[in-house]
Amino acid sequence: MLEKVLIANRGEIALRILRACREMGIKTVAVHSTADADAMHVRLADESICIGPPPARDSYLNMTAVLSAATISNADAIHPGYGFLSENADFAEMVEEHGFTFIGPSPDHIRLMGDKIAAKRAMRAVGVPTVPGSDDPVSDADAAAIADEIGYPVLIKATAGGGGKGMKAATSRDELKSALDLARAEAHASFGNSDVYFEKFLATPRHIEVQILADHHGAVVHLGERDCSIQRRYQKLVEEAPSPALNENQRREIGRVSSEAVRALGYRSAGTIEYLYEDGRFYFIEMNTRLQVEHPVTEMICGLDIVREMVRIAGGSSLGFTQDEVRFSGHAIECRINAEHPFTFKPSPGQVETYHAPGGLGVRVDSAIYSGYKIPTYYDSMISKLIVHGNNRNECLMRLRRALAEYVIDGIETTIPLHQRLIAEPAFVNGDYHIRWLETLVQRIGRE
Ligand code: ADP
Repeated sequence: MLEKVLIANRGEIALRILRACREMGIKTVAVHSTADADAMHVRLADESICIGPPPARDSYLNMTAVLSAATISNADAIHPGYGFLSENADFAEMVEEHGFTFIGPSPDHIRLMGDKIAAKRAMRAVGVPTVPGSDDPVSDADAAAIADEIGYPVLIKATAGGGGKGMKAATSRDELKSALDLARAEAHASFGNSDVYFEKFLATPRHIEVQILADHHGAVVHLGERDCSIQRRYQKLVEEAPSPALNENQRREIGRVSSEAVRALGYRSAGTIEYLYEDGRFYFIEMNTRLQVEHPVTEMICGLDIVREMVRIAGGSSLGFTQDEVRFSGHAIECRINAEHPFTFKPSPGQVETYHAPGGLGVRVDSAIYSGYKIPTYYDSMISKLIVHGNNRNECLMRLRRALAEYVIDGIETTIPLHQRLIAEPAFVNGDYHIRWLETLVQRIGRE
């Protein structure tokens, strides 16, 4: 059993992990940059250590500083959260080499899934359908021929991709060269690797992903799917579980395919298999080898604490329940609340003057902000996640409408007005949307 966990993250996810540890009687160590000295995760942890100046590369991404903090505080494990070092296989390896437990999958699985071409090949080999496309990195010389073969529109994606970076669509041969140059430049700037591959660009799919838990002893369960089709610039803004697009048979089938793939790969810990879903068919796009931002919607419908399960698994425990024992109940929706202008998405950092979070039956707020908190400019703009549960989708929507109206965050602009607008749209109310629907809504709002 683990006794002390260092949380190598900040913001709401650091608090989320801290809360799970505290409930399990595990001590917590927060790390922080100088910009976060007053942050909530620092205030609530049992111990805290400053690991560097504000830029993430000098603090939250500084592996030596994080490992030194773990040594000094005598932690026995490190939870990386999401973002930062969470999908860095070298970091996971260093953590283990220094005698700490990494709360996540093996470095080999992180490495495999971090190379998106290798991940697609590995998934196909264990029976998972993938998006048609190039099976190798594409060279400038071969690009036109490969795109012709796939057929336009093609999507250019970074092999080291993440967060929608290095992703550009080309609708014709004329656009290919400039899209390719842009994608390579962005991939190089974001990942230090300009390799790209091509995929058939699906027109109006949904993004549906399956949450997996697997232990060291071969047990694998899936916790159902999440629909994350409400996106802008390839980034998720609203997530829900279950997906309004699937029937029971489809749900069971994609859950089974995902569990079997994970079992065949010998994966352990929490993980998410992401698919695009169009015309009744699933196409694997990537696997995230970490806790995801949107994990709470799954927790709300199956009554499990995914972070606690990750910690238990990392400590060597067995899952302790079977697929048949996973019970799904009701519907959950998450709204990501960002410090941004609701319709132009221009960042709006600054000081939160008044903060009042909604509450009541079925309402959960995962956030680390408070009245008087100054949002630093250095990090992600997401400041809160509002998660609402109801006995069915309609009750969930009614509750979400009520909770959004109650939420007060003064002093900065937030995406709350966009959420209010989008949940009033008939298409959303009917569950009838796809990954490009939000973009068209935002354009429509812009013209009004
Ligand atoms: P990242 O790792 O950068 O997040 P993903 O492969 O997970 O990249 O894709 C992110 C989003 O980009 C998807 O949710 C979807 O909206 C869009 N996308 C990815 N691949 C395709 C595709 N082949 N066709 C259309 N849209 C895609």
